[in-house]
Amino acid sequence: MSVKLYYDDRYMKTFTATVQSCREDKKGWAVVLDRTAFYPEGGGQPHDTGRLYFGEETAQVTDVREKGEQIVHYCDRPIPAGTRVNGEIDWERRFDFMQQHTGEHMFSGVVHSMFGYNNVGFHMNENDVVVDFDGPLIKDDIKAVMDECNRCVWENQPVIAGFPDNVKDMEYRSKKELSGPIRIVTAGQADVCACCGTHTATTARAGPIAALSFAAYKGGTRINILCGKRAVEYLKNRNDDCYEISHILSSPVEKITDSLRSRLKETEMLKAQLARANRQLMEMLVRQAAAENGLCVVKKDGLDAASARQLATLLAEKSRTAVAFSGEENGKICIISTEYDTNALGRHISGALGGKGGGKPGMYQGFVTRRTDEERIKALVRSFNG
Ligand SMILES: [Zn+2]
Repeated sequence: MSVKLYYDDRYMKTFTATVQSCREDKKGWAVVLDRTAFYPEGGGQPHDTGRLYFGEETAQVTDVREKGEQIVHYCDRPIPAGTRVNGEIDWERRFDFMQQHTGEHMFSGVVHSMFGYNNVGFHMNENDVVVDFDGPLIKDDIKAVMDECNRCVWENQPVIAGFPDNVKDMEYRSKKELSGPIRIVTAGQADVCACCGTHTATTARAGPIAALSFAAYKGGTRINILCGKRAVEYLKNRNDDCYEISHILSSPVEKITDSLRSRLKETEMLKAQLARANRQLMEMLVRQAAAENGLCVVKKDGLDAASARQLATLLAEKSRTAVAFSGEENGKICIISTEYDTNALGRHISGALGGKGGGKPGMYQGFVTRRTDEERIKALVRSFNG
Protein backbone atom coordinates (compact mmCIF):
# COMPACT_ATOMS: atom_id res chain seq x y z
CA MET A 1 0.00 0.00 0.00
CA SER A 2 1.26 3.48 -0.87
CA VAL A 3 0.74 6.26 1.68
CA LYS A 4 -0.85 9.26 -0.07
CA LEU A 5 1.25 12.19 1.13
CA TYR A 6 -0.71 14.55 -1.13
CA TYR A 7 -3.69 14.03 1.21
CA ASP A 8 -1.62 14.94 4.30
CA ASP A 9 -0.11 18.03 2.69
CA ARG A 10 -1.47 19.21 -0.64
CA TYR A 11 1.44 21.69 -0.98
CA MET A 12 4.18 19.03 -0.61
CA LYS A 13 6.64 19.49 -3.48
CA THR A 14 9.46 17.12 -2.36
CA PHE A 15 9.54 13.96 -0.22
CA THR A 16 11.62 10.88 0.52
CA ALA A 17 10.41 7.30 0.05
CA THR A 18 11.54 3.71 -0.45
CA VAL A 19 10.98 1.71 -3.64
CA GLN A 20 8.75 -1.29 -2.93
CA SER A 21 8.73 -2.80 -6.42
CA CYS A 22 9.86 -2.06 -9.96
CA ARG A 23 8.88 -3.91 -13.11
CA GLU A 24 8.89 -3.10 -16.79
CA ASP A 25 5.65 -2.82 -18.73
CA LYS A 26 4.57 -1.17 -21.98
CA LYS A 27 4.33 2.32 -20.43
CA GLY A 28 7.86 2.22 -18.96
CA TRP A 29 9.29 1.17 -15.62
CA ALA A 30 6.44 0.86 -13.13
CA VAL A 31 7.81 1.98 -9.76
CA VAL A 32 5.78 1.60 -6.54
CA LEU A 33 6.89 3.63 -3.49
CA ASP A 34 5.89 3.13 0.15
CA ARG A 35 4.73 6.78 0.25
CA THR A 36 4.29 9.42 -2.42
CA ALA A 37 3.32 13.04 -3.02
CA PHE A 38 2.70 12.32 -6.74
CA TYR A 39 -1.01 12.61 -7.50
CA PRO A 40 -2.29 9.86 -9.82
CA GLU A 41 -4.85 10.62 -12.50
CA GLY A 42 -8.34 10.70 -10.99
CA GLY A 43 -11.50 12.73 -10.38
CA GLY A 44 -10.96 14.61 -13.64
CA GLN A 45 -7.54 15.84 -12.50
CA PRO A 46 -4.51 14.82 -14.61
CA HIS A 47 -1.56 13.03 -12.98
CA ASP A 48 1.56 14.76 -11.73
CA THR A 49 4.94 14.59 -13.45
CA GLY A 50 8.38 15.08 -11.90
CA ARG A 51 11.54 13.25 -10.92
CA LEU A 52 12.82 10.57 -8.55
CA TYR A 53 16.46 11.11 -7.50
CA PHE A 54 18.58 8.18 -6.27
CA GLY A 55 22.38 8.09 -5.94
CA GLU A 56 23.74 10.02 -8.91
CA GLU A 57 20.75 9.12 -11.07
CA THR A 58 17.46 10.82 -11.94
CA ALA A 59 14.36 8.99 -13.15
CA GLN A 60 11.75 11.07 -14.96
CA VAL A 61 8.19 10.34 -13.82
CA THR A 62 6.01 10.64 -16.93
CA ASP A 63 2.73 9.16 -15.69
CA VAL A 64 1.18 8.20 -12.34
CA ARG A 65 -1.75 5.80 -11.85
CA GLU A 66 -3.64 4.40 -8.90
CA LYS A 67 -3.96 0.59 -9.09
CA GLY A 68 -5.81 -0.91 -6.15
CA GLU A 69 -3.97 0.31 -3.07
CA GLN A 70 -0.81 1.12 -4.96
CA ILE A 71 0.30 4.31 -6.70
CA VAL A 72 2.35 3.38 -9.78
CA HIS A 73 4.97 5.85 -11.05
CA TYR A 74 5.92 5.27 -14.69
CA CYS A 75 9.62 6.09 -15.03
CA ASP A 76 12.16 6.24 -17.85
CA ARG A 77 14.59 3.91 -16.00
CA PRO A 78 14.45 1.12 -13.44
CA ILE A 79 15.01 1.75 -9.71
CA PRO A 80 15.83 -1.41 -7.68
CA ALA A 81 13.43 -2.34 -4.86
CA GLY A 82 14.72 -1.12 -1.49
CA THR A 83 16.32 2.05 -2.95
CA ARG A 84 15.75 5.30 -1.04
CA VAL A 85 14.59 8.05 -3.43
CA ASN A 86 13.97 11.78 -3.22
CA GLY A 87 10.84 12.72 -5.12
CA GLU A 88 10.21 16.12 -6.69
CA ILE A 89 6.93 17.17 -8.31
CA ASP A 90 6.63 19.56 -11.25
CA TRP A 91 4.97 22.10 -9.02
CA GLU A 92 3.87 24.62 -11.62
CA ARG A 93 1.84 21.91 -13.40
CA ARG A 94 0.33 20.56 -10.17
CA PHE A 95 -0.55 23.97 -8.73
CA ASP A 96 -2.18 24.96 -12.03
CA PHE A 97 -4.39 21.86 -11.85
CA MET A 98 -5.17 22.59 -8.18
CA GLN A 99 -6.33 26.09 -9.13
CA GLN A 100 -8.45 24.81 -12.05
CA HIS A 101 -9.89 21.96 -9.98
CA THR A 102 -10.81 24.18 -7.01
CA GLY A 103 -12.35 26.76 -9.33
CA GLU A 104 -14.33 24.03 -11.07
CA HIS A 105 -15.72 22.86 -7.70
CA MET A 106 -16.75 26.39 -6.81
CA PHE A 107 -18.34 27.04 -10.21
CA SER A 108 -20.24 23.72 -10.14
CA GLY A 109 -21.31 24.23 -6.53
CA VAL A 110 -22.64 27.72 -7.21
CA VAL A 111 -24.50 26.56 -10.37
CA HIS A 112 -26.03 23.79 -8.24
CA SER A 113 -27.14 26.09 -5.43
CA MET A 114 -28.40 28.88 -7.74
CA PHE A 115 -30.10 26.78 -10.44
CA GLY A 116 -30.25 23.20 -9.10
CA TYR A 117 -28.30 21.77 -12.05
CA ASN A 118 -25.75 18.97 -11.73
CA ASN A 119 -22.25 18.83 -13.10
CA VAL A 120 -22.56 15.80 -15.42
CA GLY A 121 -19.17 16.05 -17.16
CA PHE A 122 -15.80 17.53 -16.31
CA HIS A 123 -12.70 17.56 -18.45
CA MET A 124 -9.42 19.25 -17.61
CA ASN A 125 -6.06 19.28 -19.38
CA GLU A 126 -3.13 21.66 -19.89
CA ASN A 127 -5.25 23.94 -22.10
CA ASP A 128 -8.93 23.58 -21.26
CA VAL A 129 -11.33 23.16 -18.38
CA VAL A 130 -14.75 22.09 -19.65
CA VAL A 131 -17.78 21.57 -17.41
CA ASP A 132 -21.16 20.18 -18.53
CA PHE A 133 -24.39 20.93 -16.65
CA ASP A 134 -27.73 19.18 -17.07
CA GLY A 135 -29.80 22.34 -17.51
CA PRO A 136 -29.92 25.44 -19.70
CA LEU A 137 -27.98 28.56 -18.69
CA ILE A 138 -27.93 31.96 -20.36
CA LYS A 139 -25.18 34.58 -20.34
CA ASP A 140 -26.59 36.53 -17.38
CA ASP A 141 -26.91 33.29 -15.32
CA ILE A 142 -23.24 32.53 -15.97
CA LYS A 143 -22.19 36.08 -15.05
CA ALA A 144 -24.10 35.75 -11.76
CA VAL A 145 -22.31 32.44 -11.06
CA MET A 146 -18.93 34.08 -11.80
CA ASP A 147 -19.75 36.97 -9.44
CA GLU A 148 -20.64 34.60 -6.58
CA CYS A 149 -17.52 32.44 -7.18
CA ASN A 150 -15.24 35.48 -7.11
CA ARG A 151 -16.97 36.84 -4.01
CA CYS A 152 -15.97 33.57 -2.29
CA VAL A 153 -12.42 34.03 -3.67
CA TRP A 154 -12.15 37.55 -2.23
CA GLU A 155 -13.43 36.37 1.15
CA ASN A 156 -10.53 33.88 1.31
CA GLN A 157 -12.67 31.02 2.63
CA PRO A 158 -10.99 27.74 3.67
CA VAL A 159 -11.07 24.68 1.40
CA ILE A 160 -11.27 21.63 3.67
CA ALA A 161 -10.80 18.03 2.52
CA GLY A 162 -11.22 14.92 4.67
CA PHE A 163 -13.23 11.83 5.52
CA PRO A 164 -15.97 13.06 7.91
CA ASP A 165 -17.71 10.53 10.20
CA ASN A 166 -21.15 12.05 9.68
CA VAL A 167 -20.94 11.78 5.89
CA LYS A 168 -24.31 9.93 5.77
CA ASP A 169 -26.07 13.02 7.15
CA MET A 170 -24.24 15.46 4.89
CA GLU A 171 -25.52 16.98 1.69
CA TYR A 172 -22.86 16.92 -0.97
CA ARG A 173 -22.54 16.76 -4.74
CA SER A 174 -21.41 13.49 -6.30
CA LYS A 175 -21.52 12.15 -9.84
CA LYS A 176 -22.03 8.54 -8.72
CA GLU A 177 -23.10 6.33 -5.81
CA LEU A 178 -20.06 5.93 -3.56
CA SER A 179 -19.07 3.15 -1.20
CA GLY A 180 -16.31 2.90 1.42
CA PRO A 181 -14.81 6.00 3.05
CA ILE A 182 -16.00 9.11 1.21
CA ARG A 183 -13.65 12.05 0.88
CA ILE A 184 -15.54 15.32 1.12
CA VAL A 185 -14.13 18.61 -0.16
CA THR A 186 -15.76 21.79 1.14
CA ALA A 187 -14.76 24.81 -0.94
CA GLY A 188 -15.73 27.72 1.30
CA GLN A 189 -19.38 28.72 0.94
CA ALA A 190 -19.37 27.69 -2.71
CA ASP A 191 -19.39 23.90 -2.68
CA VAL A 192 -19.49 20.58 -0.83
CA CYS A 193 -18.54 17.66 -3.05
CA ALA A 194 -17.14 14.13 -2.92
CA CYS A 195 -13.73 14.23 -4.62
CA CYS A 196 -10.38 12.44 -4.62
CA GLY A 197 -8.36 15.29 -6.17
CA THR A 198 -6.04 17.98 -4.83
CA HIS A 199 -7.29 21.51 -4.20
CA THR A 200 -5.90 24.81 -2.96
CA ALA A 201 -6.04 25.45 0.80
CA THR A 202 -8.32 28.49 0.45
CA THR A 203 -10.69 29.86 -2.17
CA ALA A 204 -8.39 32.87 -2.64
CA ARG A 205 -5.51 30.65 -3.70
CA ALA A 206 -7.61 29.36 -6.62
CA GLY A 207 -7.34 32.90 -8.00
CA PRO A 208 -9.87 34.64 -10.23
CA ILE A 209 -12.55 32.40 -11.75
CA ALA A 210 -13.75 33.18 -15.26
CA ALA A 211 -16.21 31.55 -17.66
CA LEU A 212 -15.06 32.11 -21.25
CA SER A 213 -17.68 30.58 -23.48
CA PHE A 214 -20.75 28.42 -23.29
CA ALA A 215 -22.95 26.43 -25.63
CA ALA A 216 -26.08 24.29 -25.49
CA TYR A 217 -24.99 20.69 -25.08
CA LYS A 218 -27.13 17.54 -24.80
CA GLY A 219 -30.09 19.47 -23.40
CA GLY A 220 -27.85 21.26 -20.90
CA THR A 221 -24.93 23.67 -21.08
CA ARG A 222 -21.22 23.16 -21.75
CA ILE A 223 -19.01 25.90 -20.25
CA ASN A 224 -15.29 26.59 -20.62
CA ILE A 225 -13.79 28.07 -17.49
CA LEU A 226 -10.33 29.30 -16.47
CA CYS A 227 -9.00 29.90 -13.00
CA GLY A 228 -6.00 31.42 -11.24
CA LYS A 229 -2.90 32.09 -13.29
CA ARG A 230 -4.58 30.78 -16.45
CA ALA A 231 -7.33 33.38 -16.08
CA VAL A 232 -4.74 36.16 -15.66
CA GLU A 233 -2.72 34.93 -18.69
CA TYR A 234 -5.91 34.81 -20.73
CA LEU A 235 -6.80 38.36 -19.67
CA LYS A 236 -3.31 39.59 -20.63
CA ASN A 237 -3.49 37.96 -24.06
CA ARG A 238 -7.02 39.16 -24.83
CA ASN A 239 -6.08 42.65 -23.67
CA ASP A 240 -3.13 42.58 -26.10
CA ASP A 241 -5.56 41.50 -28.84
CA CYS A 242 -7.94 44.36 -28.01
CA TYR A 243 -5.13 46.94 -28.19
CA GLU A 244 -3.85 45.44 -31.45
CA ILE A 245 -7.36 45.67 -32.93
CA SER A 246 -7.71 49.20 -31.58
CA HIS A 247 -4.44 50.11 -33.33
CA ILE A 248 -5.54 48.50 -36.64
CA LEU A 249 -8.92 50.26 -36.51
CA SER A 250 -7.44 53.55 -35.21
CA SER A 251 -10.16 53.50 -32.61
CA PRO A 252 -10.06 53.83 -28.79
CA VAL A 253 -10.09 50.35 -27.25
CA GLU A 254 -13.48 51.03 -25.56
CA LYS A 255 -15.03 51.64 -28.98
CA ILE A 256 -13.57 48.79 -31.05
CA THR A 257 -16.88 46.89 -31.27
CA ASP A 258 -18.79 49.89 -32.67
CA SER A 259 -15.88 50.72 -34.92
CA LEU A 260 -15.69 47.17 -36.28
CA ARG A 261 -19.46 47.10 -36.87
CA SER A 262 -19.33 50.31 -38.91
CA ARG A 263 -16.34 48.98 -40.92
CA LEU A 264 -18.24 45.78 -41.72
CA LYS A 265 -21.28 47.81 -42.77
CA GLU A 266 -19.04 49.87 -45.03
CA THR A 267 -17.55 46.69 -46.53
CA GLU A 268 -21.04 45.31 -47.22
CA MET A 269 -21.97 48.56 -49.00
CA LEU A 270 -18.79 48.46 -51.08
CA LYS A 271 -19.40 44.83 -51.97
CA ALA A 272 -22.92 45.68 -53.13
CA GLN A 273 -21.59 48.60 -55.19
CA LEU A 274 -18.92 46.38 -56.74
CA ALA A 275 -21.48 43.70 -57.57
CA ARG A 276 -23.68 46.35 -59.27
CA ALA A 277 -20.72 47.70 -61.26
CA ASN A 278 -19.72 44.18 -62.30
CA ARG A 279 -23.24 43.40 -63.44
CA GLN A 280 -23.33 46.60 -65.52
CA LEU A 281 -19.95 45.74 -67.04
CA MET A 282 -21.13 42.22 -67.91
CA GLU A 283 -24.31 43.58 -69.51
CA MET A 284 -22.18 45.99 -71.54
CA LEU A 285 -19.85 43.19 -72.66
CA VAL A 286 -22.85 41.06 -73.64
CA ARG A 287 -24.42 43.97 -75.61
CA GLN A 288 -21.13 44.52 -77.47
CA ALA A 289 -20.50 40.83 -78.17
CA ALA A 290 -21.50 39.67 -81.63
CA ALA A 291 -22.46 36.06 -82.33
CA GLU A 292 -20.77 34.60 -85.42
CA ASN A 293 -22.51 31.46 -86.68
CA GLY A 294 -24.02 30.96 -83.26
CA LEU A 295 -20.63 31.34 -81.48
CA CYS A 296 -20.02 34.11 -78.95
CA VAL A 297 -16.56 34.43 -77.32
CA VAL A 298 -15.72 37.15 -74.76
CA LYS A 299 -12.47 37.80 -72.89
CA LYS A 300 -12.47 39.81 -69.66
CA ASP A 301 -9.42 40.26 -67.47
CA GLY A 302 -9.61 39.02 -63.90
CA LEU A 303 -12.74 36.87 -64.23
CA ASP A 304 -13.21 34.52 -61.31
CA ALA A 305 -15.09 31.23 -61.70
CA ALA A 306 -18.46 32.67 -60.64
CA SER A 307 -18.16 35.72 -62.92
CA ALA A 308 -17.06 33.51 -65.85
CA ARG A 309 -20.20 31.40 -65.34
CA GLN A 310 -22.37 34.51 -65.02
CA LEU A 311 -20.95 36.03 -68.23
CA ALA A 312 -21.20 32.76 -70.21
CA THR A 313 -24.83 32.36 -69.05
CA LEU A 314 -25.69 35.86 -70.36
CA LEU A 315 -23.83 35.20 -73.65
CA ALA A 316 -25.66 31.88 -74.10
CA GLU A 317 -28.94 33.84 -74.37
CA LYS A 318 -27.77 35.19 -77.74
CA SER A 319 -25.72 32.22 -79.06
CA ARG A 320 -25.67 28.43 -79.30
CA THR A 321 -22.14 28.26 -77.93
CA ALA A 322 -20.82 30.83 -75.45
CA VAL A 323 -17.28 31.05 -74.09
CA ALA A 324 -16.27 33.49 -71.34
CA PHE A 325 -12.63 33.50 -70.22
CA SER A 326 -10.04 35.74 -68.58
CA GLY A 327 -7.15 35.07 -70.95
CA GLU A 328 -4.42 35.39 -68.31
CA GLU A 329 -2.08 32.59 -67.25
CA ASN A 330 -4.18 30.05 -65.31
CA GLY A 331 -7.25 32.15 -66.19
CA LYS A 332 -10.78 30.85 -65.69
CA ILE A 333 -12.93 29.69 -68.57
CA CYS A 334 -16.61 28.75 -68.84
CA ILE A 335 -18.27 27.18 -71.90
CA ILE A 336 -22.03 26.83 -72.34
CA SER A 337 -23.30 25.14 -75.50
CA THR A 338 -26.47 23.60 -76.91
CA GLU A 339 -24.67 22.26 -80.02
CA TYR A 340 -21.45 20.67 -78.67
CA ASP A 341 -20.48 18.22 -75.97
CA THR A 342 -19.10 20.91 -73.64
CA ASN A 343 -16.80 18.54 -71.74
CA ALA A 344 -15.21 17.33 -74.97
CA LEU A 345 -14.89 20.93 -76.22
CA GLY A 346 -13.33 21.96 -72.89
CA ARG A 347 -10.83 19.11 -73.13
CA HIS A 348 -10.03 20.13 -76.75
CA ILE A 349 -9.25 23.71 -75.64
CA SER A 350 -7.25 22.68 -72.56
CA GLY A 351 -5.39 20.17 -74.76
CA ALA A 352 -4.15 23.11 -76.82
CA LEU A 353 -3.62 25.65 -74.00
CA GLY A 354 -3.00 23.48 -70.94
CA GLY A 355 -5.35 23.47 -67.98
CA LYS A 356 -8.18 21.45 -66.52
CA GLY A 357 -11.88 21.50 -65.94
CA GLY A 358 -15.17 19.63 -65.87
CA GLY A 359 -18.85 20.17 -65.29
CA LYS A 360 -22.37 19.09 -65.95
CA PRO A 361 -23.80 18.43 -69.44
CA GLY A 362 -24.06 21.72 -71.32
CA MET A 363 -21.59 23.61 -69.11
CA TYR A 364 -17.81 23.29 -68.76
CA GLN A 365 -15.85 25.22 -66.14
CA GLY A 366 -12.11 25.23 -65.63
CA PHE A 367 -8.91 27.13 -66.34
CA VAL A 368 -6.23 27.29 -69.04
CA THR A 369 -2.59 27.64 -68.09
CA ARG A 370 -1.43 29.68 -71.09
CA ARG A 371 -2.31 33.28 -71.96
CA THR A 372 -4.78 33.42 -74.81
CA ASP A 373 -7.12 35.71 -76.75
CA GLU A 374 -10.53 35.65 -78.41
CA GLU A 375 -9.22 34.74 -81.89
CA ARG A 376 -7.33 31.73 -80.58
CA ILE A 377 -10.40 30.45 -78.66
CA LYS A 378 -12.66 30.99 -81.72
CA ALA A 379 -10.16 29.05 -83.91
CA LEU A 380 -10.09 26.20 -81.37
CA VAL A 381 -13.91 25.99 -81.27
CA ARG A 382 -14.03 25.97 -85.10
CA SER A 383 -11.41 23.22 -85.26
CA PHE A 384 -13.42 21.09 -82.81
CA ASN A 385 -15.39 18.26 -84.42
CA GLY A 386 -17.24 16.99 -81.36
ZN1 LIG B 1 -12.01 17.94 -6.61
